[in-house]
Amino acid sequence: AATIYYDKDADLKALAGKTVAIIGYGSQGHAHAQNLRDSGVKVVVGQRPGGPNYELAVSHGFEPVSAEEAAKQGDVVNILLPDEVQGDVYRNSIRDNLSPGNILMCSHGFNVHFGQVVAPKGVDLLLVAPKGPGHLVRSEFVAGGGVPCLIALDDDASEETFKIGMAYAKGIGGTRGGVIRTTFAEETETDLFGEQAVLCGGAAALVKAGYETLVEAGYQPEMAYFECMHELKLIVDLFYQGGLNYMRYSVSNTAEFGDYTRGPRIVTDETKAEMKKILSEIQNGEFAREWILENKAGAPAFKAVRRRERNHPVEQVGKELRKMMSWIEEKEV
Ligand code: NDP
Ligand code: MG
Ligand code: MG
Repeated sequence: AATIYYDKDADLKALAGKTVAIIGYGSQGHAHAQNLRDSGVKVVVGQRPGGPNYELAVSHGFEPVSAEEAAKQGDVVNILLPDEVQGDVYRNSIRDNLSPGNILMCSHGFNVHFGQVVAPKGVDLLLVAPKGPGHLVRSEFVAGGGVPCLIALDDDASEETFKIGMAYAKGIGGTRGGVIRTTFAEETETDLFGEQAVLCGGAAALVKAGYETLVEAGYQPEMAYFECMHELKLIVDLFYQGGLNYMRYSVSNTAEFGDYTRGPRIVTDETKAEMKKILSEIQNGEFAREWILENKAGAPAFKAVRRRERNHPVEQVGKELRKMMSWIEEKEV
């Protein structure tokens, strides 16, 4: 079983007298910077000027500096930039401003595990990754709770670095929810697998295939939308509260019988074999190479598929229907 740490296992004193540099004031950055500051930790924000995130940091009372300057000032330096830009920004602006004894942090192991961020000699690598979006990391903290986190150390990191990691996790509220000990490899590989096979890739493909099946059979698109997309939230909420058992307790017996007898015909042995293939492409670095090279080329395939996917019929129908449901906090991107 996993080792899980809570408040009593962490001491904020490990960060006393140290400066934490938060590089990037986006989803995670704005939450880590504010939560740490509220926990009494000295924080410097590294955020490039010219955009709304710079203004946001200023409006929250920070005085943002460049990534170079933040890396220089920080004893603990957390890179909270989009994964696909971390390698370049690290090599160009951060690496040469680190000093021996500093700790380099991230909230997802992709760049460290796949060799895009390599710490200089004397700098330990530490991962503290909240298992939720930054806005929840902030709102839960303010409400007195905390989003659970993962913690990982590079092989040769010291016990002192672990203590600082635990203090960091406590400072952002993570120890209130629980902090699971993991490794860079495990965090990176399971995170990529989850988003590809189940959460984003698997779920989106399932919704689209279900929607298309109903519409192609002549049913009204609005009915297909409600059945295959809208109601999914209600089901997932039941998973979240009480697992599959609670979902099956809550739905009708007819739905439960359909689940047991039809579900395995949708996600078959063939699907599972493909999942294993996807996992091995993550493990052997093939996925990472594809994504890194895609970005070096200016992301042409990514942009093309993104444009095509935006216009899927389920998106058109959904947009109209959501306008009529006033209780939904509607988001349009
Ligand atoms: P965001 O996309 O929200 O980060 C945006 C920040 O990066 C902004 O400050 C932005 O500045 C800056 N930025 C973007 N491009 C550049 C660039 N080329 N040069 C300099 N700065 C740049 O990132 P997230 O917070 O989502 O992710 C940060 C890390 O946290 C990632 O490793 C991610 O995997 C991890 N993580 C994210 C989670 C999430 O739910 N979002 C959950 C757990 C981990 P500007 O406004 O000027 O563009
Ligand atoms: Mg992920
Ligand atoms: Mg139904």
